[in-house]
Amino acid sequence: MLFYGSARTYDPSAHTAAAGARSEARRAQTKAESLQLDVERLLMITEALWTIMKEEHGYSDDQLIEKVSEIDMRDGRLDGQVKAAGVLKCPSCGRTLMKHRPVCLYCGAAVAVSPFQR
Ligand SMILES: [Zn+2]
Repeated sequence: MLFYGSARTYDPSAHTAAAGARSEARRAQTKAESLQLDVERLLMITEALWTIMKEEHGYSDDQLIEKVSEIDMRDGRLDGQVKAAGVLKCPSCGRTLMKHRPVCLYCGAAVAVSPFQR
């Protein structure tokens, strides 16, 4: 006698899809763990740099907080993030620049790229 929900038939495509989903989940978890380690390392570097700035150059935490707020407000919102810059144009030919490229692809002009460009 069969009860509701107990009649199962083997479906190879469902088995393959489930294996694929497990594999995808493992990859996503590995990526998330890697990013977490990167963030932790960057926080340690930031803390080390800030400690040097305080101990050797006399800056205060209040100055840091003020500067962080100033940078946060560059996009007009105090929300803990800076919005990515819009489309950048080549100062030489006026065409659209590729992000993070130090030269214009069209005219070859050198372009100053901010190290903190998003
Ligand atoms: Zn150009």
